[in-house]
Amino acid sequence: MRFSNLFAPTVKEAPKDATLPSHKYLIRAGFVSQYGSGLYNFLPLGKIVFDKIKDIVKEEMDKAGANEIQMGVVTPAELWRESGRYSVFGKELLRFRDRKDNDFVLGPTHEEVVVDIVKNRITSYKQLPLHLYQITTKFRDEARPRFGLLRGREFTMKDGYSFHKDEACMKKEFDHMEETYTKIFTRLGLDFRAVDADSGAIGGSGSKEFMVLAQNGEDDIIVCENCSYAANIEAATRAKKTTDVEAPIAETAKFFTPEQKTIEDVCNYLRVDPFYSIKAVIKKAIYEEKEEIVVFFIRGNDVLQETKALNACGALDLVDASAQEVEEAGLIAGFCGPVNLPEDINFYIDNELKEEKNLCCGANEKDYHWVGFKMLNFKESRYKDLIQVNAGDICSCCGSKLGITKGIEVGHIFQLGQKYASAMNATFLDENGKSQAFYMGCYGIGVSRLVAVMIEASHDELGCIWNKQTAPFLLDIIISNVKNEEERVVAEDIYQSLKAKGLNVLLDDRNERFGFKMKDFELIGFPYALIVGKGLQEGSVEVVDRKTLEKVSLKVDAVEKYLEELLS
Ligand code: ATP
Ligand code: MG
Repeated sequence: MRFSNLFAPTVKEAPKDATLPSHKYLIRAGFVSQYGSGLYNFLPLGKIVFDKIKDIVKEEMDKAGANEIQMGVVTPAELWRESGRYSVFGKELLRFRDRKDNDFVLGPTHEEVVVDIVKNRITSYKQLPLHLYQITTKFRDEARPRFGLLRGREFTMKDGYSFHKDEACMKKEFDHMEETYTKIFTRLGLDFRAVDADSGAIGGSGSKEFMVLAQNGEDDIIVCENCSYAANIEAATRAKKTTDVEAPIAETAKFFTPEQKTIEDVCNYLRVDPFYSIKAVIKKAIYEEKEEIVVFFIRGNDVLQETKALNACGALDLVDASAQEVEEAGLIAGFCGPVNLPEDINFYIDNELKEEKNLCCGANEKDYHWVGFKMLNFKESRYKDLIQVNAGDICSCCGSKLGITKGIEVGHIFQLGQKYASAMNATFLDENGKSQAFYMGCYGIGVSRLVAVMIEASHDELGCIWNKQTAPFLLDIIISNVKNEEERVVAEDIYQSLKAKGLNVLLDDRNERFGFKMKDFELIGFPYALIVGKGLQEGSVEVVDRKTLEKVSLKVDAVEKYLEELLS
């Protein structure tokens, strides 16, 4: 390709809302253009990179035995009603109507459609297992589209769905996909971890996320300093917290604590370590048909993990309750505790408080707390994992310290079980001639997000630094001065012969200043440049390594062989 023929509109300034390097460079280097909130066009350079990533994903999925298909983006709401997700999937689901008043959605994920494809077409266990996948457009009306391609509204996902006769077979494919994803992200040259995850709106049981470790990640990941334990903070667990502080032993009694409302105040007043206190976090839970106040009780020195809390009560959303809503529910803010709550109040208690004693907690009476409180007589179903694991907590696998790091989610694999097939009545006949709902797995990779992730993982203050697997071109042959006949001829010669060898190279033949062309090279970030310039007088040219910016001077007749080795 000749640069004079390439549409790569590079610019000096990044858009004001671009805070992350990938967002800035994707726009500045002309990889993409934005045309609406969370909406991006891929320009030629972006499209080449996107296709390279897509090809790696496709190659590994095909090797893994999955069949590629293509489902439509527009999905009749009917299918979403059948699975029960039409009403419970949040506002990310874009719903609309056609001229005949039929309801539709723009597919944010395709479990419903794929179940509809397989239903009545796969009828016997003999036809199983089956894995169908696609690499297509998704639409999610994200609350905060931002960070460029990292969180768009329209984006490209590789989504695969597998069908099985039983749980064991589903688990086997889950492990197989973990291996396949590991191969994909390794080929892309990324530093990543597979971590335990929450299953979110997709549902099902066990799930794992693939996280690229990056400072600018939106996700917090808990990792063990010693063993291989790693989990998204939304799903992370720890060994039960302990303390060296002696327990404040006291008879169970109500204690006058005037105006002592926060954990800090109460604990200071009672001279108790917050470890021995119970904190009440009062939230408003939003369900399909109702809203209600829910209280979460956790240790005084713990923090409520919102996703865990949401899973505990099964609500669609949890929001802060206003002072008025708290009062109307019959609760006394600052003095709320697990006993003598108004009867209709739903509440949950963190697992680590089970059977604990010597605690202080609200008495549900203004200006009173209990001391010497014991956790007794609560139903098992009240106890849930509610707390946020922190750096410094202890790993439940090996007893070492846990740390925290940032990651960007690039893939997510789920064991769905029979959730969708049961809801949509998709069945097959098993070995005994009995009708059974399919066991399913589903597996997603954010293909367009990966374009940005590659830059987050590899850039400097000048621009992108592509690796050979994903670079739009491997080499940028820069003619220093196109008016110089000799430079043109030598560059053209090298360009033609590298091209003939199947190498993906670019010839910067534009009538621009040398400095301008170098800036484009640095910004776009091709792995290497070859400078054909003044050195020709001594018969030499220069090869620049984009990563190190180091230059090597070579004789013209030796450069081709050198480059061939370098680039392949
Ligand atoms: P997130 O937590 O980042 O919102 P998710 O858990 O909702 O993502 P999944 O449903 O697991 O996403 O989708 C599979 C993959 O699709 C994700 O791992 C991610 O790489 C990609 N993805 C999800 N949402 C977006 C988005 N808004 N823009 C770009 N890629 C996305
Ligand atoms: Mg996910």
